[in-house]
Amino acid sequence: MNRHVLIAAGLGVPLAVVAAAAILMAIAMAAPPYVPDYVVRFALPGSTGEIGLPKVDGPPDASRPLVVIDAGHGGHDPGASGQKGEREKTVTLALAKALREALLADGRVRVALTRDGDRFLALEERSGIARRLGADLFVSVHADAAESPEATGATIYTLSDKGSDAVADRVAKRENQADTVNGVPLGGQSDAVSAILVNLSQREMRERSKRFAGLVLREGAKSVRFHTDPDREAAFVVLKSLDLPSVLIEAGYISSPDDARALASPVWRRNFSRAVASAIEIYLAQTAAAPAGL
Ligand SMILES: [Zn+2]
Repeated sequence: MNRHVLIAAGLGVPLAVVAAAAILMAIAMAAPPYVPDYVVRFALPGSTGEIGLPKVDGPPDASRPLVVIDAGHGGHDPGASGQKGEREKTVTLALAKALREALLADGRVRVALTRDGDRFLALEERSGIARRLGADLFVSVHADAAESPEATGATIYTLSDKGSDAVADRVAKRENQADTVNGVPLGGQSDAVSAILVNLSQREMRERSKRFAGLVLREGAKSVRFHTDPDREAAFVVLKSLDLPSVLIEAGYISSPDDARALASPVWRRNFSRAVASAIEIYLAQTAAAPAGL
C-alpha cells in the first residue's frame, strides 16, 4: 500500500475502494503508453456541412475519364469586374457551360460542373467535389483583372508554393480572397496558402498538371489569344488538391474592353472551349494509355 492509499485510508475512505484505486494507479503507471494499431476517422461536417455532389454528364460508362469544370466565384462573390459592369462569376459560368457542351458533343469523356448556377462555393469545396467524384482532371475557369487595360489574353496556372513572378502571386492572392469576408477567412483555410506543401510525392501531379497546361497552349495556339507569358505557377488554394491534376485558366482580362467583349461572345466562348476540350481529351487519352507512375 503506497503513501496515497495510507492517507486515503486515514481519511475514512473504505479500504476496498482505496485498494482498487491503488491497483488502477499501479496499472496506469506500469503500463506502456497505449498505441492503437488502427485509426478510426470520422468525417466531421464543416461549418456548412458537406455539400451535395453535382450530376455527371456524358457517356453512361463509369470507366470513361471524368473532368470536373469549376466556374470561379458565384453567389455573394462576384469575382473581378469589367469596365461596363461585367462580372467574373457570370463569365466563368458561361465558359464552364460552353466547355461542358464542347466535351459532351465529342462524347469521349464524362463531365461535371462544380456549380451550374449562381451559387457560392468555398475554394476547398470545389476541389473537394472533384476528389469525391473521383475525377481525373480538375479545371477551374476564371477571368483575370489588371489595372492596365493593356493586359490581355489567357493564362494557364498550375500550383506552386511560390509564384513564378509578382504578377502570378498577386493573381493567386486575389483569387484566394474568395474565401474571406472583409478579410476574415470563412473556414479552416486561414493558413491555406502557407500550408500548401509541394513535396516530392506530389511532384507527379504537378508534372501532369503542367503537361495538361502545355496541351491547352498547343491546342489553343491558333484560336485562343494568350497572354504574352501564358504558362505560370502560383499558390492557388483551389488547386491545392495535389492528388488530382489541376489547372486554373484565366480565360482573359475582364478589365480589358477587348477581352471583356470576347468573353461575353458565345462564338468566342465556343472557339475557346473547343481548344480546351481538345486539350482535355488528348490529356485524358494519354493518361489512360500511360497510367500513373509510367
Ligand atoms: Zn477569379
